[in-house]
Amino acid sequence: MAPLLKPALRRGWRDLNTVQFGMTPAHAMTLGPMDTATGSFLELLNGTRGPALLREEGRQLDLPESHVDGLLERLSRAGLLDDARGGSPAVETLRRKKKLLDRLRPDLASLSLTTSEPGEAMELLATRRTLRVQVRGAGRVGAVLASLLSAAGIGEVDVRDGGHVEPWDVAPGGLPAESVGARRDEAARRAVRHCAPDNPLRRGPQSPSVDGDPGFSLVVLAPRDDVSVHAPPSADTFVGSGTPHLYAGVVEGTGVVGPLVLPGETSCAGCLHEWRTDRDPAWPRLVAQWRSGARRVRRVPPCDLALATTVAGLAAAHALAFLDGRVPSSAGARWEVSLPALNWHARPVWAHPACPCGAAEKGKGELTSIAGESHETMTEQGPSKKSRRTAAAARPAGTWRAHV
Ligand SMILES: [Zn+2]
Repeated sequence: MAPLLKPALRRGWRDLNTVQFGMTPAHAMTLGPMDTATGSFLELLNGTRGPALLREEGRQLDLPESHVDGLLERLSRAGLLDDARGGSPAVETLRRKKKLLDRLRPDLASLSLTTSEPGEAMELLATRRTLRVQVRGAGRVGAVLASLLSAAGIGEVDVRDGGHVEPWDVAPGGLPAESVGARRDEAARRAVRHCAPDNPLRRGPQSPSVDGDPGFSLVVLAPRDDVSVHAPPSADTFVGSGTPHLYAGVVEGTGVVGPLVLPGETSCAGCLHEWRTDRDPAWPRLVAQWRSGARRVRRVPPCDLALATTVAGLAAAHALAFLDGRVPSSAGARWEVSLPALNWHARPVWAHPACPCGAAEKGKGELTSIAGESHETMTEQGPSKKSRRTAAAARPAGTWRAHV
């Protein structure tokens, strides 16, 4: 191991004996009291020295070995240390790919802020390259979202949609103007490949499944159809196969991200439909009319370009948080933002006892309580104990489903 103080956290001395790591309330932390020699020793933690050399240089500063070891232990426990050398074989491979790492350097630095173990950020980046994600819907939201996931290092991003690219599908970061008239799914896959920081890992023959399981770590549902965004049809196939899925889209002047469905654990689109029907008996009648209207009349639904891009970005961030092993606040909630005031707020989606997904029985389980805690508005994000608890809800990346 070659310890280094996480470069992502800016350092500053609050007084002669206290050092502050980081600037923002979400990540800042202070360490003290600290004598001058220990303060100078911190400068040596830059990833070029192993523990033996650090102990030796510590002695030159009159710091006993036990003090050096204790300090390293303390910094590591506080989540302030990274490791410039060690790691799994996948990390070793990644370290050799300088061009790829240069593309993802800011993402790696960001991952170092949300992980605590030295070397964990690099492991997560290596894991991203092994994950398969599918995006269903390749319009202004879906194509940008798929490109973002690919650019963030997800190894395989498959895109599904029908028809051909229309002029109004074109969006920066998504389908380019040259693709108008081309098959929409093929054009979106080209955009995804174009954004990838390197060639995807070689895989064996595509085996969608032994048991009909599509084998995706996550499916993102980003329909172009506004009725499907507002009243998402329940995704029984994904609930049945235990595939985590996330909804995102724009309806009228409202952007929506969520819910992220962990089948059987958190509420699904079926739960949302049941609650809406409980609250408003006319809901199913309205949805039926909207759906049949959408089939009869072809029209271009409203979709503000900047709003669509925002939704794509936020949905990609929620997807990545999940793929990196966290449970983001879209589990059990829909984040919504409407033009023109653009205030984000989360609407809780509770598990419904009548929904066959089974999440309601798990209602008192850990995940649901995490989802419940996270119903706070973005303006309240900060050093609150709540957001720290949510952030601490970590799972090993890519391990939600045992068979992925
Ligand atoms: Zn449900």
